[in-house]
Amino acid sequence: MTATVRYMKINEIKVSNYITKSGLPGTDLVINPYVGCPHACIYCYASFMKKFTGHNEDWGDFTDVKICDSSIKPQDVYGKRVFMSSVTDCYNPLEKKYKITRSILKQLYLTECQLTICTKSDLIIRDLDILRNMKNLTVAFSLNTTDENFRRDCDRASSVEARIRALKVIHDEGIHTVLFMSPIFPGITQWKSIIEAVGKNADEYWFENLSLKGGFKYRVLNYIKNRYPHLYPLYSEIYLCGNNSYWNALASETENFCLENNISFKNLFHTDVFSANRANAKSHSSNGQISFFGD
Ligand code: SF4
Repeated sequence: MTATVRYMKINEIKVSNYITKSGLPGTDLVINPYVGCPHACIYCYASFMKKFTGHNEDWGDFTDVKICDSSIKPQDVYGKRVFMSSVTDCYNPLEKKYKITRSILKQLYLTECQLTICTKSDLIIRDLDILRNMKNLTVAFSLNTTDENFRRDCDRASSVEARIRALKVIHDEGIHTVLFMSPIFPGITQWKSIIEAVGKNADEYWFENLSLKGGFKYRVLNYIKNRYPHLYPLYSEIYLCGNNSYWNALASETENFCLENNISFKNLFHTDVFSANRANAKSHSSNGQISFFGD
């Protein structure tokens, strides 16, 4: 068997603080322990970061590891909604060696912040000893398919099975869990199959549509053209002609299904590809539309 070894450029960089203010809805502060992301999702909105980092490598082929000597001050995060992470996965494979996320969790552990961790990696299980004792913690697993072939095409993160298993482990610890169905690929993401596979191991389901606004737009469209040619007319209609009827219908379907089945959910559809009459997101568990990733 031939293994493919990818070249990955890794730098250690000094930073003065891990925390930055966030302009993201529903979030006060964001912590990105790394610059770049080895998960290399084909739809990654964060790939715009590349132009600010001086890297020539492809997105996914470089990572800067942030080293910070000063500690997080409890008063800086007191009562704040903190999100890990917005432009990397704080449990990307480098975390195994560097343990930056783990060291941050040790600092946040005794603070009064409301922490949400979003990941695609089962490496998070390593830190259960800290996580199980944190107050106001939410762990979200991002997953948009049960088809391992499609998953492998999309990212280099944990398998579908590993993510679902890890979510269950975390849920069994009494930690609040979310299945973040993102990004939903029209005609490919079988959202009911995901709910069936995850069941009550997610306390909430969040739905987010695929938004193609960055330089990756044509990469994704070409991928669809090659791998799912029968769906290309649908993607053209949505992403080249701006027709949002697919998302309108899907938002109604997810909303009705979740209400009928007593499932807590949030529809986090981006308004740039979503018509005004449904721009106020429907949520069974809280008010208002939030979107951690995107616009
Ligand atoms: S895990 Fe998130 S930050 Fe990392 S490549 Fe995928 S979408 Fe981008």
